[in-house]
Amino acid sequence: TKHILGFDVGGTKISAVIGNDRGEILSNVRKPTVKHLGKKRLLDEFYSMGTKAMELAELDNIDSIGIDFAGLVDREKGVVVSSPNILGLDNFKVVEEVEKHFGVPTVLENDATAATIAERIFGSGRGVDNFVYLTLSTGIGGGAFLNGKLYRGVHGMAGEFGHMVVMSNGPNCGCGRKGCLEAIAGGKGIARRVSENISAVRDSALFSKITPDKIDAEMVFKYMEEGDMFAQLIVEETIYYLAVGIVNVINILDPEVMIIGGGISRAGKLLFDPLRAAVNEEFKSMKRPVKILQGLDNGPDLAPISIPLYNF
Ligand code: BGC
Ligand code: ZN
Repeated sequence: TKHILGFDVGGTKISAVIGNDRGEILSNVRKPTVKHLGKKRLLDEFYSMGTKAMELAELDNIDSIGIDFAGLVDREKGVVVSSPNILGLDNFKVVEEVEKHFGVPTVLENDATAATIAERIFGSGRGVDNFVYLTLSTGIGGGAFLNGKLYRGVHGMAGEFGHMVVMSNGPNCGCGRKGCLEAIAGGKGIARRVSENISAVRDSALFSKITPDKIDAEMVFKYMEEGDMFAQLIVEETIYYLAVGIVNVINILDPEVMIIGGGISRAGKLLFDPLRAAVNEEFKSMKRPVKILQGLDNGPDLAPISIPLYNF
């Protein structure tokens, strides 16, 4: 059995995970992150959280390390390039540092690419040569296996589906453009739409109780389930734009399966039932079959673990 230490650096949290090549997760340590995450601070977190994860898994050694990051990376050089949602890490040679500290081979991937690999090895992408993966989290990202191979693009940056513009002149995105899918339907985009509109809403009993900076997508789905009309409107709008984005991707790539993961996908039926309906509605006149599946439950944990399994 090979033991792998995985680090996931997202827009909302960092985690350190120990897993093995059978896809079993042995331990997990999570911490909320800050938007201005410096290089030194990230390394300190890696070292303490990584050691903690190894202790919890009762391991003295690991075979390799996978790091996934919510932004653009240069996998070959092991360098973080940039991120719309995490600042202070541009051009960071993270692999070199982590390899030196832990003394084992280390690989870096984009977080959504890593999750795509996890679906390919352990999830609904097993045995499926053409599938697209979409992650709905703080940001929105993705990846694709085409003809059985991970499609990376020339710079390893393919699959940035969250930055497809779905509303001209729409809200500002962390990438510097306007109206990107993630600026509307990503976790941050959802929270922004709630706080921007909340003062105009009188009959949202639940939302009137919470402070705007505490709002997250999970809450919005929960309140919708409890019958809050305002939450329902926010979700409906989210689903509409997600469907637009998904239809665009399907029109371009014609995958066998579309897999949707990430924190927001945990909403389950509340998200998937209306989303499937909306996508099918868009395709009604084209009569195109579309299979949309929910991603692995433990996808976020398996993502960094899967990187070395695919790359070494
Ligand atoms: C980033 C992607 C990332 C996604 C999910 C987006 O903002 O551009 O690289 O995969 O968020 O974290
Ligand atoms: Zn963008």
